[in-house]
Amino acid sequence: MLNIVWFKRDLRIENHTALAKAMHQGPILALYCWEPSQWLADDASLSQQAFIGECLRSLRQSLQTLQIPLQISSLGIIATLNAVLAEQKIASIHSHEETGNLNSYRVDQSVAQWCHTYNVDWHEYQQHGVIRGLKNRNQWQAKWEEHMRAPIVTLPSSTTQNPIITLPKQTIVRARGDDKPARQSGGRKQALLVLDSFLSQRVNRYYGGISSPINASEASSRLSPYLAAGCISMREVVQACRARRTQCLDEGLTPKHAIILGLRSFESRLHWHCHFMQKLESEPTLEIQHMHSAHIGIRDETLNDIESQRRLNAWCKGETGWPLVDACLAMLAQTGWINFRMRAMLMSSASYLLWLHWRETGLHLAREFVDYEPGIHWPQVQMQSGSTGINTLRIYNPVKQARDQDPRGRFVRHWIPALRRVPDIWLFEPHLMPANLQLQYGCVLEKDYPLPLVDIQLAMRHAKSEIALARKRHLNRYETQEVLRQHGSRSTSRRRVKPKKTSSAQQSSLF
Ligand SMILES: Cc1cc2nc3c(=O)[nH]c(=O)nc-3n(C[C@H](O)[C@H](O)[C@H](O)COP(=O)(O)OP(=O)(O)OC[C@H]3O[C@@H](n4cnc5c(N)ncnc54)[C@H](O)[C@@H]3O)c2cc1C
Repeated sequence: MLNIVWFKRDLRIENHTALAKAMHQGPILALYCWEPSQWLADDASLSQQAFIGECLRSLRQSLQTLQIPLQISSLGIIATLNAVLAEQKIASIHSHEETGNLNSYRVDQSVAQWCHTYNVDWHEYQQHGVIRGLKNRNQWQAKWEEHMRAPIVTLPSSTTQNPIITLPKQTIVRARGDDKPARQSGGRKQALLVLDSFLSQRVNRYYGGISSPINASEASSRLSPYLAAGCISMREVVQACRARRTQCLDEGLTPKHAIILGLRSFESRLHWHCHFMQKLESEPTLEIQHMHSAHIGIRDETLNDIESQRRLNAWCKGETGWPLVDACLAMLAQTGWINFRMRAMLMSSASYLLWLHWRETGLHLAREFVDYEPGIHWPQVQMQSGSTGINTLRIYNPVKQARDQDPRGRFVRHWIPALRRVPDIWLFEPHLMPANLQLQYGCVLEKDYPLPLVDIQLAMRHAKSEIALARKRHLNRYETQEVLRQHGSRSTSRRRVKPKKTSSAQQSSLF
């Protein structure tokens, strides 16, 4: 009887509960499936697929050291299980719980049904600090801590002969788009190198260094694609971070030292990883539905009018006429990564200034991110679009952001060649440059660089008043309480909703 380890977004052998448990049962089939429905979906891209391909090569090598062959199927999991069952009896399937998109949720449901039909035990194990079946957030923090503190899972020594199953051959479906020339490379070895370089050299720049897109590429950990593919587990990262802090304190560094501040701030982001993923785990429809229903219908829900399409296309192509927005989209197109602050600004510019529904723009960013993690992505997309009902509205002005985060224009000039010769004074608002200077600096508006799609101040006013109107008409205090109960942080520093009163001042603090 065969025990299947179904690798999903946990492409490593270290701290791998599913693998360890299966190895105790007997002969193993280590399986990865290129799920056609996943890679043909609107949120998938070739750059993510290429990254996963590299992770699989690395996983195959690691498994070889245990004499376990990795079998990769292009059929999708149900067809693959049927093919395996035709050759061997299956005792059990072992995998990690996945907080994926609605598609992976449906795939999981079909596997549960298949196991029920063929009387196969399916064991799922917790991978991150995300708790399945959680009713509210009250105990979440304690459970997160318990999971992260647990010892790293070790593997038993492999003695059994593990079979090779002949799976039907079929071409792997190809996700949309092109690979990105400057993306991070996948695999366990890369993940460890990145973690090591961050903790030993770069972490001292983390605190205060991750908001500007100029410094963030180096100052951030850059672990996101490895965490998303599971080349490294959250528990390993948390424990490595804490070990480094202990080492620094033992060496006499004070809590105010840049390294210690960086480590503390980094660890709080590791909490956020699971805090956000928990939202999608608890409410999988967040990928397609507003977190708070007061926002239904306030933006064009279908994007089928010509003006919305024009704005959407220009935003996706990085032709908004706002240099920082366009530079970020240009960097994403090449690298598949941008820092948090700029992700928030991109979403904010689309949702508030261009008044586009978050679903289409969220899908575009999902495809652009090599580190696409549905559980972080969709709750963040909603938060930065003002549709959660429990977070304060944060509308970024891309010109102000450019002045704050790229004061000398290095980032903008690097990513937008047409603006390279434009002097600082016009750089972030080139549409204000007189016609003779446009010619002189080689940046003629509408020829070399687009005009802004809309007026920022007018657009901000419009966004605020539309959302205030929706709030006035549709605010439902009980729904807000429910959203907060299920998804809100229990951090004491966060704003809380007072249960009884609903004055307009309080309502505005909720949005
Ligand atoms: C609209 C939007 C969409 C996003 N989509 C994704 C996504 O698809 N995948 C993704 O990994 N992150 C996403 N983020 C969160 C964040 O921008 C990235 O995690 C971070 O920029 C990745 O770089 P890093 O690993 O160097 O981060 P670091 O700052 O070094 O953080 C370490 C890890 O902590 C987690 N983390 C950091 N910031 C956040 C945050 N704000 N919320 C939740 N977890 C966080 C990530 O796992 C990250 O890898 C999104 C943010 C926004 C505003």
